[in-house]
Amino acid sequence: MRAFTFEAHIPRTIFGQGTLKQVGDEIKRLNCKRVLLITQDNERQMALAHEVRDIIGEANVAGICVDAVMHTPEDVTTKALAYAKSINADGLVSLGGGSTVGLAKALAVRTGWPHVAVPTTYAGSEATPVLGETVNGLKTTRSDPKILPNTIVYDVDLTLTMPAFLTFPSGINALAHCVEALYSATLNPIIEGVGLSGITQIYHALLKLKDAPTDVDARADALGGAWAAGVCLAHVGMGLHHKLCHTLGGSFGLPHAETHTVVLPHAMGYNYSAAKGAMEKIEHAIGSSDKAPTAFWNLEKKLGTPMSLKELGLKKEDLAKAADIASKAQYPNPAPLDREKLLTLLENAWEGNPPA
Ligand code: NAD
Repeated sequence: MRAFTFEAHIPRTIFGQGTLKQVGDEIKRLNCKRVLLITQDNERQMALAHEVRDIIGEANVAGICVDAVMHTPEDVTTKALAYAKSINADGLVSLGGGSTVGLAKALAVRTGWPHVAVPTTYAGSEATPVLGETVNGLKTTRSDPKILPNTIVYDVDLTLTMPAFLTFPSGINALAHCVEALYSATLNPIIEGVGLSGITQIYHALLKLKDAPTDVDARADALGGAWAAGVCLAHVGMGLHHKLCHTLGGSFGLPHAETHTVVLPHAMGYNYSAAKGAMEKIEHAIGSSDKAPTAFWNLEKKLGTPMSLKELGLKKEDLAKAADIASKAQYPNPAPLDREKLLTLLENAWEGNPPA
């Protein structure tokens, strides 16, 4: 028997095609009169911000902030907060991936303003009350109910043109949230169902998107799976895989989704025997006769994602330091954390070898 305590916190969620048009109604619902649109400084994201400004109406948009960058540096937040206050904003709309949602969360927790998140990747941050912030090069994570967005608007149309180099690592990033939920020490039956459904949806959707990147049903499955993944991440503790990725991203500056992609099969291999029940459920969910870590490694090969930490720019001499950091931190994980075994895992991931 598994005992558990569970309290669900899932934002109001709108999912479909063309749902971007509903952002204006959601803003009104939250009694916001002057929202700050948050996005990134590139043509695609700016065009999206202008489209949303037209939907909401110029009078209800106080300004556009394009400063969102990965890992939510505190100086960027401080500047954005000063700007938001100077234009008398009273609400936040984030338009983009995890980096953009992260900046809006950082502002929401400092102001208490409502936040409508419009995600355009599969990172899953929009469904969590968790915020990672970087101060003086050190990334720390905190959780607060005020960090959880009030509403998520998922519009499948916004993902149709996502390029392969973003789609596949971002999809594997979402898979990782579901996988680690399934062997979490704080798992409960609801999240187990959510995690397995996320894995099934994302795994098959990514395979379809390889040949048909604009297939609406596959895009909907990938985005719906990403929502499930975010719900998993929000409700149960993650293990070794997330710790390693946090270390590699935070201390060595590796890119977020790509790092998750390279590490996932290896972290699953490390935990395989200690979490055999969860692994077998994953194998059943994706219909694989291979062991789950091999099945995911093969999936990544087929999708053409990065396969090694070497190609992400990690220096070989940093592996020992990464193993030290990951083995020193205390967190629940199915297999005991052993520095030498972690170093072997990292060496295999660095070389791009198949998982153990
Ligand atoms: P990202 O938000 O940095 O986006 C990556 C790039 O893709 C950017 O250049 C962006 O402009 C572009 N982009 C976004 N959507 C696009 C689309 N549909 N088509 C084309 N280009 C698009 O990357 P990410 O992986 O989504 O997010 C990573 C960040 O999110 C990290 O800082 C990570 O720590 C954070 N994160 C936080 C949580 C949480 O719960 N706190 C969960 C997951 C990720």
